Amino acid sequence: MELIFERSRPGRPGAAVAHNDVQMDVEVDPRYLRSSDADLPCVSEPEVVRHFTNLSKRNFGVDSHFYPLGSCTMKYNPKFTERIASDEHFAAIHPLQPQLPKGPMLVQGCLEVIVNLQEALCEIAGMDAFTTHPMAGAHGELTGIMMIAAYHRHKDRPKKTVIIPDSGHGTNPATAAIAGYDVVTVPSDRDGCMDFEKFKAALSDETAAVMLTCPNTLGVFEPRIREIADLTHEAGGLMYYDGANLNAILGKARPGDLGFDVVHINLHKTFATPHGGGGPGAGPVGVRKHLEPFLPISRIRKRQDGTFALDYDQPLSIGYVSPFYGNFAVLLKAYAYIRLMGREGLTAVAENAVLNAAYLRARLREHYDEACASDTLHEFVLSASRQAGRRVHAIDIAKGLIDHGMHPPTVYFPLNVKEAMMIEPTETETRETLDAFAEAMIALAKLAEEDPETFHDLPRTTPVGRLDEVRAARQMDVCAPSL
Ligand SMILES: *Cc1c(COP(=O)(O)O)cnc(C)c1O
Repeated sequence: MELIFERSRPGRPGAAVAHNDVQMDVEVDPRYLRSSDADLPCVSEPEVVRHFTNLSKRNFGVDSHFYPLGSCTMKYNPKFTERIASDEHFAAIHPLQPQLPKGPMLVQGCLEVIVNLQEALCEIAGMDAFTTHPMAGAHGELTGIMMIAAYHRHKDRPKKTVIIPDSGHGTNPATAAIAGYDVVTVPSDRDGCMDFEKFKAALSDETAAVMLTCPNTLGVFEPRIREIADLTHEAGGLMYYDGANLNAILGKARPGDLGFDVVHINLHKTFATPHGGGGPGAGPVGVRKHLEPFLPISRIRKRQDGTFALDYDQPLSIGYVSPFYGNFAVLLKAYAYIRLMGREGLTAVAENAVLNAAYLRARLREHYDEACASDTLHEFVLSASRQAGRRVHAIDIAKGLIDHGMHPPTVYFPLNVKEAMMIEPTETETRETLDAFAEAMIALAKLAEEDPETFHDLPRTTPVGRLDEVRAARQMDVCAPSL
């Protein structure tokens, strides 16, 4: 496809702008004046519209295709929440909205939304307080582990290690390391859970925290979670809940009741908001009472007269983790979603997410190897090991799916499963869509039996075919003629 700069013809106007007959007497410092024209493409308005419309059609998204990306939870985002977030009373507000002398801050409505959301999240996660500042799950993890570090320092008992099972997301060990801890990795047992004996051996009075995803990345609910939490607490450590999989247990179980002290929730996974390509997201962090003093500033407080104000007077706080109030539009969408669904609706989210995943797993289990034998919840992991014997790997199956008009599942994660394909259909898909996906996966398994060689130049239906992914990343050339 031509670049917009290649379509440019000097002097061709893009839009009709009326002649300016207003006398401008604004003084601009010459330092800020251009010395030459901006190098912008000269294209007509319809060309601009067609260019970007055609580009947008090459995008892959939940609005156009099925997107079963395990762990990332790419579920359909109700347009209702988008409508709320684009309401100009919210969308046009400025974070530096001035404050009236002696009056309340002028962003009362936004502050109220945040406080209401925090209360809803406390109820959903079984926590005592929430901060909505962190802008992503990983950012929430860092905020949470920094609070845990501050807590141990405050008790005059700083510790050295964080325990993480080998099925954990890469951000977990990265977070622990950035916060200054040594990471102790515990292998998974045959059921895909943290090996209990090896966990006990790893636990010591130097353990600052145990970071767990529950259900874990294989979709398995950790059966000994209470014992793990009790042992950790006895050893003086804290329990960190990676909430990326919270959609599996919404309304059914609460991390706080399971023994966790800190939790982050990926609002962009569990509570609407499309995401990808790095954003937008929000990773609010909830804590039990004993960690509340360490929450980032500012906290929003409801005053006696019913107005809301920011409170910076938190001597034990870990400080700022983001400017202003966090990623407000994402918070707003999540709040609208929670209010739209209500308690029963959120429970149904978990039930349908689990049902859909169980259905797909049952349809696919004879065609691919399974990562574990135990029951799984909202996602499950298959392995392409059987196909790899015929030189068809998880990446080849993934590329083949694209020709069926579907986004591939997450591949090569979790790291403790060879040739992993991690499938999360989410609750928003119909039986027909799930069947179409199952048929596509079965067709690819058959093709791997019958004609494994064809896989190596898939996909064939996309504007760009099979890329050398390493070279594409290292020597990126977005103007290559094949584009
Ligand atoms: C997505 C994810 C994260 C990181 O969250 P981001 O919002 O992408 O930063 C952490 N843990 C798990 C299990 C995840 O799936």
